[in-house]
Amino acid sequence: MSLTGETRLAAVIGWPVRHSLSPTIFNAAFAALKLDWAFLAFEVPPEKGIGAVDSMRALGLAGLSVTMPHKAAVAAAVDGLTPAAEALRAVNCVFWDGDRLVGDNTDGDGFIDALRKDPGVDPAGLRCVVAGAGGAGRAVVRALASAGASDVAVVNRSPDPARHAVALAGPVGRLGQADDIPGADLVVNATPLGMGAGGADEPLPIDPSLLRKDQVVADLIYHPPMTPLLRAARDAGAIAVNGVGMLIHQAAHALGRWAEVEPPLGVMTQATLAELDRRARFDG
Ligand code: NAP
Repeated sequence: MSLTGETRLAAVIGWPVRHSLSPTIFNAAFAALKLDWAFLAFEVPPEKGIGAVDSMRALGLAGLSVTMPHKAAVAAAVDGLTPAAEALRAVNCVFWDGDRLVGDNTDGDGFIDALRKDPGVDPAGLRCVVAGAGGAGRAVVRALASAGASDVAVVNRSPDPARHAVALAGPVGRLGQADDIPGADLVVNATPLGMGAGGADEPLPIDPSLLRKDQVVADLIYHPPMTPLLRAARDAGAIAVNGVGMLIHQAAHALGRWAEVEPPLGVMTQATLAELDRRARFDG
């Protein structure tokens, strides 16, 4: 890649952000599309998220990805919000609409697209249990309801975020419990349990004895790609799906917002898997 005076810049802001896979995904996409764009990660302290949106305006950045802890602050700093970002009050992608900056939240659509692509499951009519009601859990709950799920039960450690998530699902949303898991068609882990942060004693997000074959079990975690929950799901004969697909598809939606291009999903996936593999060998 050679950078010139014509090269446009897109970026991700976060704190921390050095672990982000966004530069890998987007630079691979730009190269495949022969777009004269570059993508960088900026470590922006928590109180400076709004300043980063001002910088986007001043520098004319082509696109901005937003990760923790800036999603809510950026939602308040842009000129407009898509319906998803408005409902979630959280932005993970900023794009230009003329001279206005608009915030979107592509996590929910990314999750649904990933499910439809591989394993080829449409959420319409499905009974779903979502464990976790943080930013990702809320996006998934809302998206499942929008995609026509017949029942979206939210199971979460703390009641208030669970109620907030349930409200996003409208008439099909409800507070759930472990008993709902055996009867569900789709079980989603939207907690960080499985990333390994809790060490060898880290509990599973749900009791694996409640899983059964014919279910789809989706873990939003992508690093590691095989979590203890996914292993238990596979052992139970269920279809196990990790978070790589959601990661790729939410990025594809962002790219589509920034430029009128067809996102090169295969290249984006290959680059992501290669980088995850490199990190796994480094960790190991
Ligand atoms: P978050 O906003 O911090 O929410 C975390 C959720 O997990 C909350 O509901 C929290 O419950 C619950 N939780 C945390 N620790 C727990 C524990 N020890 N026991 C039980 N519940 C616990 O995080 P997030 O942004 O939603 O991310 C959640 C997961 O999704 C992470 O693993 C993240 O990497 C993944 N993710 C993946 C993608 C993707 O593209 N694949 C995108 C976004 C996020 P409380 O409400 O009780 O605190």
